[in-house]
Amino acid sequence: MRVLVINAGSSSLKYQLLDTKSKEVFAKGNCERIGIDGSFIGHEENDGGKQKLEVELPDHKTAIKHVFDLLAQAGFDTEAIEGIGHRVVQGGWYFPESKVVTDETLGWVREVAPLAPLHNYAEADVIEICRNMFPSIGNVIVADTSFHYDIPEKAWRYALPRDVVDRLHIRKYGAHGTSHRYIWRTTREFLGGDVHKLVSCHLGSGASLSAIEDGRDKDTTMGLTPLDGLIMGTRCGTIDPATVCYLVREGGYSIDEVDTMMNKQAGMLALSGRSSDSRDIEEGAAAGDANCQMALDMFYYRTGQLIAEMAQSLQGFDAMAFSAGIGENSATMRAGVAQELAWLGVKIDPELNKVRSDEARLISAADSKVKVLVVPTNEELMIAYDVEALLGR
Ligand code: AMP
Repeated sequence: MRVLVINAGSSSLKYQLLDTKSKEVFAKGNCERIGIDGSFIGHEENDGGKQKLEVELPDHKTAIKHVFDLLAQAGFDTEAIEGIGHRVVQGGWYFPESKVVTDETLGWVREVAPLAPLHNYAEADVIEICRNMFPSIGNVIVADTSFHYDIPEKAWRYALPRDVVDRLHIRKYGAHGTSHRYIWRTTREFLGGDVHKLVSCHLGSGASLSAIEDGRDKDTTMGLTPLDGLIMGTRCGTIDPATVCYLVREGGYSIDEVDTMMNKQAGMLALSGRSSDSRDIEEGAAAGDANCQMALDMFYYRTGQLIAEMAQSLQGFDAMAFSAGIGENSATMRAGVAQELAWLGVKIDPELNKVRSDEARLISAADSKVKVLVVPTNEELMIAYDVEALLGR
């Protein structure tokens, strides 16, 4: 099935047209700076053609029109597109699984938007635009939170007054669920029936872990929002929640300033004082920068600590899989994290760890108690699979 996958942000819109059977990506791109000066579209086709289109993108509707024009020029008019999959960041309490777009399901995306205001409103608008512009094409909502929907109550509940959490729908929602689902599926294909308990490690500029048993999620490190858990590129991850009150009361920061600080000015960027990108931090550490080295040490320590926490949720683990920008590309950081888990019998083979490839691969030593893999994630393909499952003829 030919599926167009759309991932809309407040000022961007990523797209990918792919085939679920052959997994071929026909075209992909990103509309950037929507509603801001200097907007453009970076577009690529599978024959190697690339272009940067400097066009005015006052709103998402204009961006989508351009995307469909670019696809038509590449030989894929609307007739050739059999379904559209929309990534939705926050599905709240409505999306235990992906759903076909109707007035009702679209209303749910807006209803839960206060939990992710920067994303959900834009995503809902884009879904509505696609429905109105191309009424013959079916649309599917794939929420990033769905995979975590059924984690046990002891894992999702927050120890706050019940009336407060009930009224405000406070719970652990998690994120990166579509990626964790794909990582499970690929690990299972790779290892066959030998794997039951997997700690999936999505380590990119945003990072989270998921404790998966036989395809079902048992716990995850992100919480009410994607700020919780691991130390990330610019996000602080778990800290004492009272730090927020202290910063407001004693530091004189407004709540919005604290929000920005914790999401955009913290994490590896703050620790290294140099960059949020782990390549720069690895380079700095290798050149003797003590702050960069501390950023790496803390990343290994916290990631190892939370992997052990996920393993506890699973009461043991057979496998762990590294994925996303850092997990797929940095042998140094994989080795650093694995070293923290040596006491649990995790051991990677240094030669296998050096291999670079776009394929899933094993990097654990023969005598490791836990199989360690690198699994390149593919959220777009996972979304397209859901579209096929719901709309495929
Ligand atoms: P993602 O959010 O999954 O696209 O991951 C982006 C992050 O992956 C970047 O900010 C880098 O920190 C990291 N990354 C990408 N390539 C490499 C690499 N070759 N070595 C180390 N880190 C990398």
